[in-house]
Amino acid sequence: MEAGTPTGPQHYDYLIVGSGAGGAAVAHGLASAGARVLLLEKGPRLPRDGSTLDVRAVLIEERFKNRETWLDGEDRPVIPGDFFNLGGKTKWYGAALLRFSPEEFEADPGNGYLGWPIRYEDLAPYYDEAERLLGVRRFAPEPAMARLAARLVKPGGPWEARAMPLGLAPDAQAHRNEAARFDGFASVRGIKADAEVRLLDPLRAMQNLRIETGAAVAALLPRDDDPRAVIGVALADGRRFHAVRVVLAAGALHTPRLLEEYLARTGLAAQLPGARFVGRYYKHHLNTILLAFGLRRNDDLLFKTLLFRHRGFPHSSVQGLGGRLAEEIIATRLPRFLPDTARRALSARACGFFLTTEDSSHPDNRVAAHAAPAAAPLLDYRRDRMPRAWAEHAGFVRAFHRALAARGLPGVYLHMPPGATAHACGSCVAGRDPQRSVVDGYGRVHGLENLYIADGSVLPRSSRANPALTIYAWALRLAHHLRTRGATREHETAATHPVRS
Ligand SMILES: Cc1cc2nc3c(=O)[nH]c(=O)nc-3n(C[C@H](O)[C@H](O)[C@H](O)COP(=O)(O)OP(=O)(O)OC[C@H]3O[C@@H](n4cnc5c(N)ncnc54)[C@H](O)[C@@H]3O)c2cc1C
Repeated sequence: MEAGTPTGPQHYDYLIVGSGAGGAAVAHGLASAGARVLLLEKGPRLPRDGSTLDVRAVLIEERFKNRETWLDGEDRPVIPGDFFNLGGKTKWYGAALLRFSPEEFEADPGNGYLGWPIRYEDLAPYYDEAERLLGVRRFAPEPAMARLAARLVKPGGPWEARAMPLGLAPDAQAHRNEAARFDGFASVRGIKADAEVRLLDPLRAMQNLRIETGAAVAALLPRDDDPRAVIGVALADGRRFHAVRVVLAAGALHTPRLLEEYLARTGLAAQLPGARFVGRYYKHHLNTILLAFGLRRNDDLLFKTLLFRHRGFPHSSVQGLGGRLAEEIIATRLPRFLPDTARRALSARACGFFLTTEDSSHPDNRVAAHAAPAAAPLLDYRRDRMPRAWAEHAGFVRAFHRALAARGLPGVYLHMPPGATAHACGSCVAGRDPQRSVVDGYGRVHGLENLYIADGSVLPRSSRANPALTIYAWALRLAHHLRTRGATREHETAATHPVRS
């Protein structure tokens, strides 16, 4: 147990499953207003002994990464790039904390993008709150990035650059070892604004918030007389907890599987029209890593200080790999036959980039509890289902690759495989129509009384850049909604009906 135990009976106002961007933000919003909250996190609290900044432990041994094998649509093994720990994937993220733009809330059938049930203006106050809680700020471009921008961005030209909003402490650059490894590693000093450091740690002394790590939720529990009300959860170790409302925030790979299993077990799958969309419209962006090599050294520490866009590729963006990640990739991934001197010379001159395009929303791209007949979960994601998005991505990568080469920075690139699930979202999409979506505009599962979703699985669109700030904002908005609804019918029903055991 990580924080003060509530003094009342083991019946909470809220159970929250998962502690990443969505789970920590909804917990913060509810617990800071006095609600009795139990946050259940499957993974441990990460060690603070320096191992999360150690290149061998993180990149070579992949000590902290998911090892569970899933199957793809052709029954081939795939290991999702997921992390189970307090703070979820935010402990490892690059802290690029961008807002979606207003048009990215609209449906765009030509490109296969679903629309949101809410507008940018509905989320704007919660973007403000998320940025304030996370301390989002912009840093002046360091020399290598400034040189690149000066060569790439010309008046009237196709490329534009804007300062990158980052969740990093103002003195981040003073902590060289940490700043060099903020992207893809987990901070020990807390220089990175992750969900644990910024949203959970400040509430640790509160008696009304209990955080339970090593608590893998295995199933949702129905009310005896009506499964449309969820009364609690059962853990893999047999423990059970009960609450007035349950919020799923296990991430876009796991939340749909918990929901799918519940709907199937209770018979609701046959009754709720939206049930057939659970797990579908899964997205994780089309992503490519590009390493470029110049004659001059790249001594930038943060590097991820600008975001580039190209006028001809409206759903795409490119950002630097944060810190010295490019150098670490070269050190750990380049062929061993390369002499150390050559490897060092290359890595000192390397610039790493992360190129992203929004993938289309396709119902056949999905996650499911089991890939029949095997017991492994299914991650069926194919880019040939979205030829238009893929054509934009491939064209964008070529354009950036050529632009760099023309400016004396030739490079190589690698398209990320389907197991690269860092930006997993969709899979329980929000929508106004209960026939065609899984949750409503506040995250309540259509047709269920008191089950909500706070994580990236609700995102119908994922924008041209990173999703975490939008997930934080969605969850803060959900917390506000639940706070202002106050005690309702759910309270009475959960309290007066017997618990099924
Ligand atoms: C290397 C890396 C770099 C990234 N960089 C950026 C970036 O720069 N900017 C950005 O916006 N995004 C970035 N992302 C993506 C970002 O981290 C995610 O979009 C965000 O964390 C998703 O939040 P979430 O709440 O949906 O899920 P998660 O953060 O994945 O949290 C889900 C939590 O639920 C827990 N859980 C799962 N199953 C259960 C269960 N059965 N019971 C209990 N708990 C469970 C998990 O352990 C986890 O803690 C990056 C991700 C990675 C991996």
